[in-house]
Amino acid sequence: IKPKPTVFTIFGGTGDLAARKLIPALYNLYLDGYMPEKFIIVGLGRTDYDNQKFREILLDGINKFSRSGKADAAKWKVFSSCIQYLQSDAKKDKTYQDLEAIIKQKDQEWGEESNIIHYLSVAPQFFPIISKGVATINIENQEQRNRIVIEKPFGHDLESAKELNRLLQSLFDETQIYRIDHYLGKETVQNMMAFRFANALFEPIWNRNYIEHVQISVTEDIGVEDRGGYYDGSGALKDMVQNHILQVLCLVAMEPPVSFNADEVRNRRVDVLRAIRKFGHEEVKHNTVRGQYASGWVAGEEVLGYREEKGVDPNSNTETFAALKFFIDNWRWQNVPFYVRTGKRMHQKASVISIQFKDVPHPIFPIEASESWQQNRLIISIQPEMSIRLQVQAKRPGLDMILNPVDMVFNYDGTYPAESPEAYETLLLDVMEGDQTLFMRADQIEAAWELLMPVVENWESRKSINFPNYAADSWGPEIAEALIAKDGFHWFTMP
Ligand code: NAD
Repeated sequence: IKPKPTVFTIFGGTGDLAARKLIPALYNLYLDGYMPEKFIIVGLGRTDYDNQKFREILLDGINKFSRSGKADAAKWKVFSSCIQYLQSDAKKDKTYQDLEAIIKQKDQEWGEESNIIHYLSVAPQFFPIISKGVATINIENQEQRNRIVIEKPFGHDLESAKELNRLLQSLFDETQIYRIDHYLGKETVQNMMAFRFANALFEPIWNRNYIEHVQISVTEDIGVEDRGGYYDGSGALKDMVQNHILQVLCLVAMEPPVSFNADEVRNRRVDVLRAIRKFGHEEVKHNTVRGQYASGWVAGEEVLGYREEKGVDPNSNTETFAALKFFIDNWRWQNVPFYVRTGKRMHQKASVISIQFKDVPHPIFPIEASESWQQNRLIISIQPEMSIRLQVQAKRPGLDMILNPVDMVFNYDGTYPAESPEAYETLLLDVMEGDQTLFMRADQIEAAWELLMPVVENWESRKSINFPNYAADSWGPEIAEALIAKDGFHWFTMP
């Protein structure tokens, strides 16, 4: 069923996210027949553009960033005729009066009430003023029609996240609020649920009896690029762990939901956050590691250290690498360590979940038969490779009984020749259809902040004396190896 007629407003329509992700996603939904019959996209920004100029800029973005490549002239013509530009200042009442006029005019033209989606693709300091502004738009049946999408970062600590939640919930019903975490829209991440709950094979062994430890690693090879000013006030913990990594961890560790209903799934996700062991002073000391990249060489080119990057304080205490060990205190996961790490300027760009199973109970092969012995491991690669691999032991062909690990691989590219939709396509369609499963509820956001606040406070209050502590193009600081090595494991890296 196609969604109802829709007015899609993008605050920050002239920004980077709109050009790179949002408009290409809406365009691809249009190409694939998922956009409503009747829709308009209203881009808001302060620059003085007319519709024509705005559309040209967006077309440029599609040609550069769309997964479907350069836009088809005829299709773009029709699609772009539904895009208009509203020069506006988020702080002025007139902006919301202009939007009200547009919505009312469309109601009349379409002969039915539309859904209205306000996408806040702006810096977080504008979230409150725009939320209040759109709540003043005076139209019939607001509760059924209005939806508001909030980009990251959602708060910079527990208190600010609570404050933003309080404000949003005073203006809208929770069913109207979509807090986006684009990781949840990724195909491989969504597949975590299909994989676990649509197969009889894995669930019986998905627990402390069979799983030895879990790793979630999100590494980037780039530095902060031109985001230094923003990043220096944030850091790896807030930018990656608080949101994306904890959400992925929830999908790995959650109990089976009763159904695929949005609240059932979100209840199970928040249960995980609540069960994670709290970080006291000792846990921060022993179970967390932070790092900051130094200058170095990447592919024959010299690159700047973090403290030399534009917009970064030359004495910055901000971490560009974080590694943490979590325990989930419930029946399923008692004493199974979950190691997570993320960093910039690392040797490889890869987001990978590795589930390592316990060893066989009794070895029957002689040591020489199994020199490259590897316990069973399930590897879910989120990006750039999209695959699920099960590492098992097998006999190498030959006259001797020699074992070595082999992969049983499900590779998206090979299995599904058509390109997968981008995370933003999935999520924008969900907003249009009113499905909140892949969005974060207020309690989830707050539980994630609550969990990490002791680490945030500790790191902010104690200046790191050994920053920078890892070289560009490395696997992060040595102490990160030690964090996992002291338990007898090592970080998994994609071949
Ligand atoms: P940007 O700086 O490129 O764009 C900001 C937009 O805000 C511009 O369109 C600007 O015109 C508008 N704006 C600023 N002041 C305004 C005012 N007073 N009234 C009206 N509009 C105003 O930022 P971006 O990279 O597009 O990011 C937008 C949001 O999305 C941020 O919250 C960011 O954290 C988040 N985000 C961005 C990316 C990305 O890839 N760019 C990824 C994830 C999340």
